[in-house]
Amino acid sequence: MKSFDVPIIYRSPLITAIKKKRKEQDKMKKPASPADRDFTPTLLGFGPLQIYLARHFGFCYGVENAIEIAFRTVEENPGKRIFLLSEMIHNPQVNADLQAHGIQFMQDNYGKQLISFDELTADDIVLIPAFGTTLELEKKLDDLGIQTEKYNTTCPFVEKVWNRSDQIAKKNYTIVIHGKPKHEETRATFSHAAANAPSVIVKDMQQTTELAKYITGQKPPAGFYQEFKGQYSEDFSVTKDLERIGVVNQTTMLASDTQAIADYLKQVMIEKYDLAAGDIGERFADTRDTLCYATLENQQAVSGMLQTNADLAIVIGGYNSSNTSHLVELCEEKLPTYFINNEEKILSGKEILHYNFHTKEELLTKDFLPKKDPVKILITSGASCPDALVEGVIEKLASYFHQEKKMQDIINEFL
Ligand code: SF4
Repeated sequence: MKSFDVPIIYRSPLITAIKKKRKEQDKMKKPASPADRDFTPTLLGFGPLQIYLARHFGFCYGVENAIEIAFRTVEENPGKRIFLLSEMIHNPQVNADLQAHGIQFMQDNYGKQLISFDELTADDIVLIPAFGTTLELEKKLDDLGIQTEKYNTTCPFVEKVWNRSDQIAKKNYTIVIHGKPKHEETRATFSHAAANAPSVIVKDMQQTTELAKYITGQKPPAGFYQEFKGQYSEDFSVTKDLERIGVVNQTTMLASDTQAIADYLKQVMIEKYDLAAGDIGERFADTRDTLCYATLENQQAVSGMLQTNADLAIVIGGYNSSNTSHLVELCEEKLPTYFINNEEKILSGKEILHYNFHTKEELLTKDFLPKKDPVKILITSGASCPDALVEGVIEKLASYFHQEKKMQDIINEFL
């Protein structure tokens, strides 16, 4: 896969050495099938502290691509005003760095306008974030004479979802998008899908079962428009547009959730239309899931990491990062999990400030490190989290223990 030129401050000598070594080992093992891939974590043994690092975590293709384009744009355009349609990725440090380089954000994460489009001129540069954007915003920029192609950081894996929905739209299926209705990527995907076919967003299984009631006729159509307000395309007809459907998803959803939603809707169509196995395609487009490789790998790596009998897990990433929150969700099922956005949230060897993404609040937990020897901690991070932050967390944790091995010894083991 292509490598990118991202600022060195985001890299970590330790993590770079580990990732390189594991990649080499993977190449030597050559798994017979994807199911045989090695998702065991990497053990960093400090003595009384044992850290198990997920096999895959951190910056993905789309994030590195976006960061490279953004910093190059700043470098190549001194004196020009540079805007970003919204946060480029969901990481506070990266976004703060971009702002420090003079880039201004036009919208917040929920589409609230911070800078009016009226303030833009054809001379300005507007970067489109990795999540992509809506056709409406793209047109707005075109109408203002602003060139967006060169400065478009939309991830190719997001575009792949748009292509997939185009394909099923051409076959007259309605697009059901599994995603967070307010997330930039889902809004962009919805806009692209709705340009070609009736489209509706479902945020989770609970909403999907409600949608199914309109498919089966259990619920009268009139209720749909209130229940799915803001989540369906213009002129959506509950009676006609739910007869043939296909599912695509926001690239960063939980793989098992999307699979369950697609399987469930498929079954609803089979029962409603009494379909034989060979006829399912008449009513349900087989799209498989449209998760990106990074989401899938990171989730599989967490499942691999959770095989270890550990005391706690720490997940590092932006609090509004969708892919990170799903890694937290997986860990929470198994052991105490702390979601933090940098090492400063570890206040001491006794206290940690961490985010509860269910209630959207930061909590203080005391005595988060158990009194035992060794303490085993699982660590992973989201696709928009710089490796340097992960190293910072490891260093901070290690500082609370008598280290039989120093950080440099550990790095040397991987060189
Ligand atoms: S998480 Fe996937 S879709 Fe999103 S930017 Fe990264 S590679 Fe692209």
